[in-house]
Amino acid sequence: MLNPKLEEVLDAMPHAVFVKDNAHRWVYANRAFRKLIGCEDVLGKDDRHIFSQDQVDVFWRENDLVFAGQESLNEEQIGQDRFALTKKVPFAFEDGSTGLLGIIMDYISTRPAGRPQTAPPAFGGLQPEMTALQKRLEDALAEKAWALEIARTDSATGLRNRHGLEADLEDQIRLAEATGRSFGFALVDLDHFKRINDRFGHSAGDEVLKTVGKRLGALPGVVSVGRIGGDEFAIITEELDEIGEPLKELFERLRQVVFRPTRSGDKTIRLSGSAGICLYPKDAKTTSELLSRADLALFSAKRNGRASSKVFDESTLGAYRRRLQIEVKLPDAIQDELIFPVFQPIVSSRDRSVVGVEVLARWSDKDLGPINPEDFVSVATDIGLVGKLDRLVFKKATQIAKPWLDKGEINFLSFNASPMDVVTPGYATDFLREIDASGVPPSSICLEILESSLVEDVSSARRNLHRLREKGVQIALDDYGTGYSNLRALLDMPLDKLKIDKSLVSGIEDDEKVLDLVISLVQLGRALDLTMVAEGVETASQSAFIEGAGCPEMQGYYFSRPLSGADMTEWLKSGVPENVPGDGASGITKMAG
Ligand code: C2E
Ligand code: CA
Ligand code: CA
Repeated sequence: MLNPKLEEVLDAMPHAVFVKDNAHRWVYANRAFRKLIGCEDVLGKDDRHIFSQDQVDVFWRENDLVFAGQESLNEEQIGQDRFALTKKVPFAFEDGSTGLLGIIMDYISTRPAGRPQTAPPAFGGLQPEMTALQKRLEDALAEKAWALEIARTDSATGLRNRHGLEADLEDQIRLAEATGRSFGFALVDLDHFKRINDRFGHSAGDEVLKTVGKRLGALPGVVSVGRIGGDEFAIITEELDEIGEPLKELFERLRQVVFRPTRSGDKTIRLSGSAGICLYPKDAKTTSELLSRADLALFSAKRNGRASSKVFDESTLGAYRRRLQIEVKLPDAIQDELIFPVFQPIVSSRDRSVVGVEVLARWSDKDLGPINPEDFVSVATDIGLVGKLDRLVFKKATQIAKPWLDKGEINFLSFNASPMDVVTPGYATDFLREIDASGVPPSSICLEILESSLVEDVSSARRNLHRLREKGVQIALDDYGTGYSNLRALLDMPLDKLKIDKSLVSGIEDDEKVLDLVISLVQLGRALDLTMVAEGVETASQSAFIEGAGCPEMQGYYFSRPLSGADMTEWLKSGVPENVPGDGASGITKMAG
């Protein structure tokens, strides 16, 4: 009935507020009012639903005066021992009729049992009380301002809440319009806040939120800080009109000041987060635009890998739209089995013969064209379909590749597992059932997992991996050398292989430190009895370095790009892959034997 935003503010007020139509029916009642009269479901009803006929007669006499245009302030008996000081003012409805708006400024429960019923002491209807009433009214109005302040404050941190922040944004826009100045607006999101709560407890989590709020408020140029979601903050900064030094400095300070570690008791809590920024008036001109553009920038910062900051640009908008389209189309694509596998050879460093293939998912939509696997895998993860996607890829890939295994042309098929699945109880049982149905022996299957699946929920991941490994499935840790690179995980987890990330491989020629790191990783792998695989080998010289570092297996465009099932079959037969761009196959030979 009222504007929803207004209703929310009224609901947060301690005063009972209601609106009646000219037939005395409630058409609005805020939370305090509903609580006061002990009835949630009052809309459309009138006083007879709650009060005695005597009381109703009194109320309605007053109401009629208000409908006629008079304001009133009255004490009303609203229960046996309860009295309300109610202000009523005429209220004009859109259809032209007049109702009333009531605010209960104060109410009291009086008289311990046994005392004779008299008028309540606070406003007993006596003459001198008029000034006291006046005073109460003033207090009530002051309290209303205070209530508004409360309604705009986040109780956990004392920062602005979403309401408060939006109000500040509106003020800031008015100021900017009047002065011709610009300003900046940023959304800041903590990474892995849930994990902080789980590990250190909720009170430590609350402390972290307060600390982050304080740090944000201390950044230069910040005029308002709000907490607008569980672990999402917003800041308004003064003049920030160029994508130049001030913005870079802000990003830098976010990284160095806001996300520096904090302490809880004797423990250190590491913090990281992402930020999305947009500028008024360049990127957005209204509160809702500022919020949505900053949100898009934040979304794109997170997509870049966590712990980064981004300023809004049009391409952000494009990427976001594309993602939405992917979200809409992916469920059908999986259902209709339009996602299919391609195969990239993994070769032995010794003689460059193929030892196995990694299965990679592909999807080309008739409208969107080919879609980057990282994009659709991440959407599938967000909408809870990644398990289904992986099962489809597994089913199709094993159908295609089984003959290669049967003929001994390759030793294993390597599949990517989503971190979300690996931690799900029962994952191993389901996967073993699928392997069984495929007719491929478990010992010919390798599962590539990411370190992040080992961080989230170690115990269930470990159980799943142990079960798979007991049946002969090999486990590879993918993308090693990025992200956490947690040594503990290597020691604790049941692993057979370690895949050195392509970012290390690409640095191996030019950066001696990287070469040293790869050499020590290979030695570490050997000490832990793990087979090392180098990913993303693109040149002859990289392959020579990798071989020199003692890494036994390699994979990359230098040997072959991922191939369709037909191309791979053809190539395994003849030794020459078709449709491979450039001389990508120059480093490869058919598997011996
Ligand atoms: P990944 O598991 O690290 O896969 C290797 C990626 O590196 C593949 O990208 C592959 O095409 C690419 N690559 C191979 N050799 C080279 C090289 O020499 N140079 C460069 N620059 N890149 C190379 P792709 O196919 O785009 O897949 C990206 C990621 O998407 C994969 O990274 C994996 O995390 C995920 N993914 C792909 N297919 C699946 C799937 O079926 N299920 C799941 N859960 N994830 C998948
Ligand atoms: Ca992989
Ligand atoms: Ca990888």
